[in-house]
Amino acid sequence: MLFRKKKTYEDVYKWRRHNNGTCFYCYEDKPVAYAFVGEKGICQECLANFKVGHAGTDRHVITYLTRSLTSHEETVEWLKKHGVKLAPNGQQKDVHYYFAINNMGIFNTYCAIIYGNVDISTVSIATQKRIMDSYNDIEIFKDGSIRIIY
Ligand SMILES: [Zn+2]
Repeated sequence: MLFRKKKTYEDVYKWRRHNNGTCFYCYEDKPVAYAFVGEKGICQECLANFKVGHAGTDRHVITYLTRSLTSHEETVEWLKKHGVKLAPNGQQKDVHYYFAINNMGIFNTYCAIIYGNVDISTVSIATQKRIMDSYNDIEIFKDGSIRIIY
């Protein structure tokens, strides 16, 4: 099987508990190139074909692959190149805040809620879940390091 891009939030800890391969991205039993939940993680083949599908689901691999970058600009460039759609959400001292958009349609439809201009309680619980899943808050530091909030 091949690398499968994550489209929605997938709980990596839940996956680990089920006997569903050693690679989170092809679900096969393969030697792991980078382990991020115990002995399980991502295989070499998937790492070579890796594309970001959902910033929250992919957070371990994103952090791993950007670990050697040394500036905010480099990290932003890497993220864009690997399929992440970023919307700036402010800056404070050494930290740049962004929304990493997982689902552009939902994000755009509910941007008034996401940007805090309309209260989230005005929509149903199911819609709230979809809205929360449509993006992840990320912080990119001046030194290039990244924190993905999920
Ligand atoms: Zn794999």
